[in-house]
Amino acid sequence: MYIARILYPVKVLGPGLRIGIWFAGCKHHCQGCSNPELWDFSEKYSTTLNDVMQLIESVSDTHKVDGFTLTGGDPIEQHRELVTLLKKLRTISDDILCYTGYTIDQVREKCPEVLSEISVLIDGKYIEKENHEEPLRGSQNQNIIILKEKFNSSYSQYINHSGNQIQNFFTLNSAISVGIHKPGYESDLNRVLIGKGLLKDE
Ligand code: SF4
Repeated sequence: MYIARILYPVKVLGPGLRIGIWFAGCKHHCQGCSNPELWDFSEKYSTTLNDVMQLIESVSDTHKVDGFTLTGGDPIEQHRELVTLLKKLRTISDDILCYTGYTIDQVREKCPEVLSEISVLIDGKYIEKENHEEPLRGSQNQNIIILKEKFNSSYSQYINHSGNQIQNFFTLNSAISVGIHKPGYESDLNRVLIGKGLLKDE
C-alpha cells in the first residue's frame, strides 16, 4: 500500500487526539488541492500493512488515541488495502473519519465494506471557490456524513464549537501544515518565507 505520512496528535481534523494517516495516490486532481504532491502512487510511499500497524501501535500503546482521520491523496483509491487496515484500526478506536473525492454513492459502488467500517465520511471533490474555511470541510459541496449514530454528538460539538484551526508539525527537515487552509495559502506562505529569506524567489 501507499502511505505518505502518519502524524499524531492531530487535533484539527475531528474530535480528540487523533492519528492522521495520509494515503498517497489520487485520481481527482482537484484545482487548488493542498496536497498535489500526494497525487502519484509514488514508490517512495510504498509500505506494508504490518509496518503501518507497527507504527500506529507504537503510538497507541503509549498515548491516548481518540480516533483516526484518513486523508491524502484519496484513501478510496486503495480500497482493498483500506478495508484490511480499517479492521485493525477499529481494535484501537472505532472513531474513523475518512475523506474521499468520490461521492458516497460511488464509494458504495466501489467498496460498500468501507462504509460499514468507518464512522464518518467526508465526500466529494474539492472545489476551491466553495472553500469557506469551515471546520472539517474543504469546500461546501462536500458532505459530512455520520455513518454511526453514536458519533452524532461528538462531531456536532466539534463542528459547532471548535472553529477551523490549522496545526503545524515539524520534522527534522520540513514543516507540515494540517487542517482546512484558505484558498491560495501556499502562495501566501511562500511570500512570507521569501520575505524572511527562508525560500528562494524563483
Ligand atoms: S480528492 Fe482531495 S487529495 Fe484528491 S485532488 Fe481532490 S482535494 Fe486533492
